[in-house]
Amino acid sequence: MNVNDTEVIFSIMGRHGYEKTEDMAEADVILANTCSVRDNAEQRIWGRIDQFGTQKKERPWVLVGIVGCMAERLKDKLLDSHKVDLVAGPDSYRRLPEMVEAATPGHPQIDVQLSREETYADINPVRLDSNGVSAFISIMRGCNNVCSYCVVPYTRGAERSRDPHTIVREACDVVERGYKEVTLLGQNVDSYHFGDESFSALLEMVAEISPSLRVRFSTSNPQDISDEVLYTMARHENICKHIHLPVQSGSDEMLVKMRRRYSREWYLQRVAKIREVLPGCGLTTDVIAGFCGETEEDHQQTLSLFDEVGFDSAFMFAYSERPGTLAAKKYPDDVPQDVKVRRLNEIIALQGRKSLERYRADIGKRFTVLVEGPSKRDAAMLCGRASNYKMCVFPAVKGVTDGERVMGGKDANVLKAGDYVDVIVRDCTAATLICDLA
Ligand code: SAH
Ligand code: SF4
Repeated sequence: MNVNDTEVIFSIMGRHGYEKTEDMAEADVILANTCSVRDNAEQRIWGRIDQFGTQKKERPWVLVGIVGCMAERLKDKLLDSHKVDLVAGPDSYRRLPEMVEAATPGHPQIDVQLSREETYADINPVRLDSNGVSAFISIMRGCNNVCSYCVVPYTRGAERSRDPHTIVREACDVVERGYKEVTLLGQNVDSYHFGDESFSALLEMVAEISPSLRVRFSTSNPQDISDEVLYTMARHENICKHIHLPVQSGSDEMLVKMRRRYSREWYLQRVAKIREVLPGCGLTTDVIAGFCGETEEDHQQTLSLFDEVGFDSAFMFAYSERPGTLAAKKYPDDVPQDVKVRRLNEIIALQGRKSLERYRADIGKRFTVLVEGPSKRDAAMLCGRASNYKMCVFPAVKGVTDGERVMGGKDANVLKAGDYVDVIVRDCTAATLICDLA
């Protein structure tokens, strides 16, 4: 979501004549788009702000701005540090050019007003990915859920959905520019609604733009993901069969304290429904270890849920208290750090074994992959994802197998980013499917 917000910012700044540079030493304005979701994300930014200070020392006219969630949360502290010239929250990006014009060293500009309407619907983001294959499209902003550990509703404000016609227009535009995949983004995509349009209707509209456009989305909330969304996914070949379904904990007591509005049982039933309607669907999750009052028994419940579900992969975090949240006000952050880390490591170790199992289960299967570019590990190989989101690596040339030399040099058979190719899985690690071309 922050990558996409940065694309919006580049677009707004570009309209006012600003150009992007890859070299910080060349920049007159440095904007850091920030995340507040965990403390270490914020600590990294404080480190960056010090780095920017070196630029300011060498070139005193350089303006440093902190934008996004951390700007919203820490406006005063940022200004008091005397290290930043501009602080703009997630709903103030339209004002950035004007703020940059007005800011001078010693006279900082600040705008952290949250909005009930802003969706940047008319802004065509400047795409940052270099391969031109996959684009993010924000379909909504903010969140109305107030999970007790989470700072997002405070930094990003109330939920608002974007007009579906502007979303479809943006998707058509990226297709015209050669993109092959869009990911629809929202904190809780299933609560998307605009007039009578629901998320499943939006998903269908985007899927119908072109059969060769892949459609992904994130994030689904277990309490809101509807059967209609699953049936819509089943009806459209080009809607990728992957659902990111954050569980957060396997313990009912923790889920209540977290204010997640589902139980362990409900979660498992949703997983069963997904697997019934969409066999082979990729399933990933987020989990928090060591939330307030978490006992060994609660933790065991999380491990047993991970064991039972068998996620393909997971984002796993130690609980980090966020000031101002309900949990920070109501519950002591009482699981000692070493216990949090030990529990987190146990989840990571279990998930490592489960990932390997889940990837092994795909050996011998045939998948259609959208080529993203060269593989990071081996430049002679390409990589790209299967519909189920698993990363595949495979040879770059049709008709030659891994390791053989390409003779003749005619590249009609050489695959490139944006091509679709069928592969057969030969081997795997816990994070990659190693494939031959089919
Ligand atoms: N809207 C998404 C999640 C957005 S935040 C959802 O509801 O699923 C991304 C992930 O960060 C969360 O799923 C959660 O696992 C993690 N997270 C959020 N707040 C956290 C905190 N205070 N400490 C640790 N992890 C946290
Ligand atoms: Fe945070 Fe919960 Fe909203 Fe996700 S749904 S952004 S975890 S408050």
